[in-house]
Amino acid sequence: MKSYSINELLQAPPLNQKVEVNGWVKTFRSNRFIALNDGSTIQNIQCVVDFEQFDEELLKKIATGAALKISGVLVESLGKGQSVEIQAEEISVHGISDPDSYPIQPKKHSMEFLREHAHLRIRTNTFAAVMRVRSALSFAIHAYFQKNGFYYFHAPIITGSDAEGAGEMFRVSTLDPKNPPLTDNGDVNYKEDFFGKETNLTVSGQLEAEAYAMGLGKVYTFGPTFRAENSNTSRHLAEFWMIEPEMAFYDLKDNMDLAEDFIKNIISYLLENCEEDLAFLEKRLLDEEKTKPMAERSEMKLREKLKFVVDNEFIRITYTEAIEILRNSKPNKKKKFKFLINEWGADLQSEHERYLVEKHFKCPVILFDYPAKIKAFYMRLNEDGKTVRAMDILFPGIGEIVGGSQREERLDVLNEKIAALGIDEKELWWYLDLRKFGTAIHSGFGLGFERMVQFATGMGNIRDVIPFPRTPQNAEF
Ligand code: ATP
Ligand code: MN
Repeated sequence: MKSYSINELLQAPPLNQKVEVNGWVKTFRSNRFIALNDGSTIQNIQCVVDFEQFDEELLKKIATGAALKISGVLVESLGKGQSVEIQAEEISVHGISDPDSYPIQPKKHSMEFLREHAHLRIRTNTFAAVMRVRSALSFAIHAYFQKNGFYYFHAPIITGSDAEGAGEMFRVSTLDPKNPPLTDNGDVNYKEDFFGKETNLTVSGQLEAEAYAMGLGKVYTFGPTFRAENSNTSRHLAEFWMIEPEMAFYDLKDNMDLAEDFIKNIISYLLENCEEDLAFLEKRLLDEEKTKPMAERSEMKLREKLKFVVDNEFIRITYTEAIEILRNSKPNKKKKFKFLINEWGADLQSEHERYLVEKHFKCPVILFDYPAKIKAFYMRLNEDGKTVRAMDILFPGIGEIVGGSQREERLDVLNEKIAALGIDEKELWWYLDLRKFGTAIHSGFGLGFERMVQFATGMGNIRDVIPFPRTPQNAEF
């Protein structure tokens, strides 16, 4: 007898044959109908139990959460809600589950409650759907780059360069915190630490990816990234995954074209391959939005939003144009923004990004050519001497989803920049080498994987799109 996943059974039902399935009990109704799920699809398989045929002791063990093996003949179902069902002939229990203490009851739980039970929340329809979409999205990302001539590059996780400047870092050390070796001036002596210097968890693989793009041409990273930023928002994690393509011979326009094509492509993949999960998540989102005031509800359903992104060109405007729009906007004039936009050079806050995307353009927006002062040292300086070839992609409901730039390839300009910022050039010796030996224009960007999963699934909080979230004061599990 063949063992099937529930997805296989439903895709091509071997009708009137004896089949075997394994899974967890979602519900057991009237001592007769078991809804079994094995994670292979959002759908359950109904198993019909003739209770006279089974031992009472066995039936008592069948409760929500229990793991079972069931075999029987697959037949067409006469009942509503399913096309086929299994007429159970044999049932064995892998593991029982005490119905009174099992936290995942067949009812609605709050997201906060489920976060506290992150080891069990994958047994809910919502989390299983989100995680299947997450998995499909990673596949689509690899497929896109592999199809387009990129090589998967594994950036180091432990980094010795502290010049990335992308945020606060987590120190990696084996020194005894109670009794660290000290230098003559009383500082911690990292020469005696494991690596003989200060090291941290990486905040970005970009600098290393640049080195590899200068030999392999086109590379991309897809790995974990760590930021010790104490920002308790619905869009920040302390440990998140980032995709960072880096391309030799690409200028900023090539970079924006790639980012837009890439995003559209991976979203199309989800629309084509995650139909059932997206339909479920769409309904979940609709239900959730009904609890919100009218003005905060979104105008489009989840799949409409995804299709909209695929079908429409992203708006591209310069930072300078954006500042003009914001300066003259209603919330700025009526002093509704927390941070008012008065002059050129102001850093854009998430309220401004969301105004541009959600109110003004109602479309994904690529902002480019930012003031040098508010962007990282490695971005290429424009002719005007005050803006750099940076680009951020802003998405509805999310804000910044991509940050990228054309990199500064000119050694003299980069040296000046580093000196002006007081960065120790010795720290960056190898990065500067790249500008000495066969330098070339090049560009890249970083896509926050979880922010993309958030957009694709309509989940409001980034903590609910990664299996075990790490945030300030929280590293349970
Ligand atoms: P933000 O201003 O939203 O904090 P950032 O400017 O620090 O973002 P980058 O350094 O450009 O972001 O990182 C590239 C991408 O990584 C961002 O566009 C975003 O999608 C994602 N990202 C950045 N920080 C986080 C975080 N703490 N948690 C999850 N994703 C993040
Ligand atoms: Mn940040």
